[in-house]
Order: sequence, then C-alpha cells, then structure tokens
Amino acid sequence: MMHMKQIYLFPTGFLCLVALLFSCEQAPQSTDNKADMQQRPSYAIAIHGGAGTITRASMTPEKEAAYRTALDSALLIGETVLRQGGTALDAVEKTIVYLEDCPLFNAGRGAVFTHEGRNELDASIMSGSNQKAGAVGSVMIVKNPIRLARAVMDQSEHVFLTGRGAEQFATEHNIETVDPKWFYTEQRWKTLQEMLEEEKMKGKTGSLEPATRDYKFGTVGCVAMDQQGHLAAGTSTGGMTNKRWNRLGDSPVIGAGTYASDDACAVSCTGHGEFFIRYAVAHDVWALMSYKGLSLADAADFVVNKKLVEKGGEGGLIAVDKNGNIALPFNSEGMYRGYAKPGERKILIYKE
Ligand code: ASP
Repeated sequence: MMHMKQIYLFPTGFLCLVALLFSCEQAPQSTDNKADMQQRPSYAIAIHGGAGTITRASMTPEKEAAYRTALDSALLIGETVLRQGGTALDAVEKTIVYLEDCPLFNAGRGAVFTHEGRNELDASIMSGSNQKAGAVGSVMIVKNPIRLARAVMDQSEHVFLTGRGAEQFATEHNIETVDPKWFYTEQRWKTLQEMLEEEKMKGKTGSLEPATRDYKFGTVGCVAMDQQGHLAAGTSTGGMTNKRWNRLGDSPVIGAGTYASDDACAVSCTGHGEFFIRYAVAHDVWALMSYKGLSLADAADFVVNKKLVEKGGEGGLIAVDKNGNIALPFNSEGMYRGYAKPGERKILIYKE
C-alpha cells in the first residue's frame, strides 16, 4: 500500500517542487524514487477501462458495482496467467479479450458508434522483450481485435493492418469473426443519437467534441511484467462516438496509445486520441525514463498532468516499469483502473 501511495499522494511540498521544475517546459532530471529501489515483485499488472467524466455523482451503486466486478474479473485473468508463470503478452491479450467481451466498455462488444452508425474497432499490442508489435484499425467483424493485433505481430511481417485487408487477414488466420450486430449496445446507440441531435441543432457534423459533453472514454488496456521480467502492453477501443472518415485514434498507434520496452516500461493510454498521437504519449513516457533517467512515476505524471494538460488533451494511462512499479495517472475526473502484484491489489474509479 505504502508503495502505491508514494506514486499517487505526493505531499504538497513535493508537488510544488515538481511544478517549479516543470515551469520551464523542460522535463525534470532524474529524481531518487524509493519505490524504484524496492525489490522487484515476481509479477505486476495494471488495467484500465477508460477515463473521462466519471464522478460519484454520475454513478448509481449498481453501475459502480458492475464496473468494479468487471475490472476485478479482468485483473484476475491476467494475474492468474502471470502467477502461473505465463508471459506478459499472454496476460495482456487474455485480459483485454475479457474486457472486449464485456459490454460495459468501449471495446469489442459495447464499442461506440461512428457517425454512420457502425462499430469500427482498433487495437494494438507490443512486446517489450523484442519490440515486436501488432496493430489493427477500423475492423468491423472481428470479435476480439486484440487477438487480431497479436496475430499481426506473430504471424506477419507487418505491424499495422487496417479495414478490409485486416479482416481478410483475420479470416485467413482463423481469428473469430462475427456479424457486426454483435457489437451493438443500446446505451452506445443512444449516445450517438444524442450527439447527432446536438449536431443538428448546431448545424455542424462529424464533431468528436469530448470536452463539451459529459464524455466517458471507455477504451480498455492492460500492461504487465511477467516472472521473467518481460513487459507487454495492449489497448483496444471502438474509438470516439460520432467519428467519421475511418478516423483512427491513438489506441492502435504504437508509440501513441501503446508502447513497451523491457529496458524501461510498458504503457497503455486512454483519452482524446488526437492529442495522444500528436504528443506520442506512450513513447514519451518511455523516452523520459530512458533518456532522462526519470522514475516511472515522474515520467508518467509529467506527460499526463503537465504536458497533456497544457495542450488540452484529456485522459490518462497505465504503466508498469521493469522493476514492477506501477503508475496510473489521469487528468480527467475519473479512470476505471486496477492493478495487482503479489500481496497487493486494488480497483479504483475516481480520484482518490
Ligand atoms: N483514445 C481513444 C481514441 O481516441 C478513445 C478512448 O481512449 O476512449 O480513439
């Protein structure tokens, strides 16, 4: 517990010092972080189910319980793989498959709708031990896009496949496909109708405008460190409601929404994708650690709470470093999240 509190609850004096260090737009130099020096746990895993306007006031006890149960079950899947000596990659993939199948989240079943009323899904996965990565964008019939991303990584010479080509690759590699109706949920359909109505009133079309709405990003992600010390990260999403023109966000973009490298950390992001692409958020956390020697906590905090905030990018990320430290920063009101390592486990939703 002490360990996580060091990541989250910086004393005010420390925050002021950090603010001072950051005030010249420069990343701070390496700081001594006790958390980094503690003994490495045998495994570590973190998950997210999206960030956004998630407040206690907007939640019913039933809804909150449903989210907590789903996050808990997802975490348990990944934890079990890691505890039994499985790979970080398998833990990430299996955990995300569960979250994709859960209609509460904006990934797989439960994905948001495009302007035209379709579900276009994006996902990516990266292996920290060899920098291999796989990503898919705008697929409409693949039940679990993270599985397809893994197949692209393992069974092709490519990194990023999109649209009909990606779907063809799925059928050729026995990745399960479904009728697009599989992804439909009433709540997401209603949100699209509300957004279209709003647009009509404003006389404007194709706007994502998350900041002006009661917006909840619902992308899912997982990062893990296995018993061999290898890292992996994965992210899966339906993107943003009302997207058009085959818009892709950060989630399937390696370096933006997902990144992993055993020499430093694994990162999965959620938020307003355009900003996460522009500022190469996941890779930026890695770069601050790798080139500047920052701790995971300082690097992740700088990118999410300083850089993104200044640029207007809402969202957050989950990350694990090579020593099993975990950081879960976000600059929105809440983020569905959880983490586990031996003897430590937590599911969180709000700022706490
Ligand atoms: N980052 C995702 C996107 O922009 C959305 C999300 O995280 O919910 O497509």
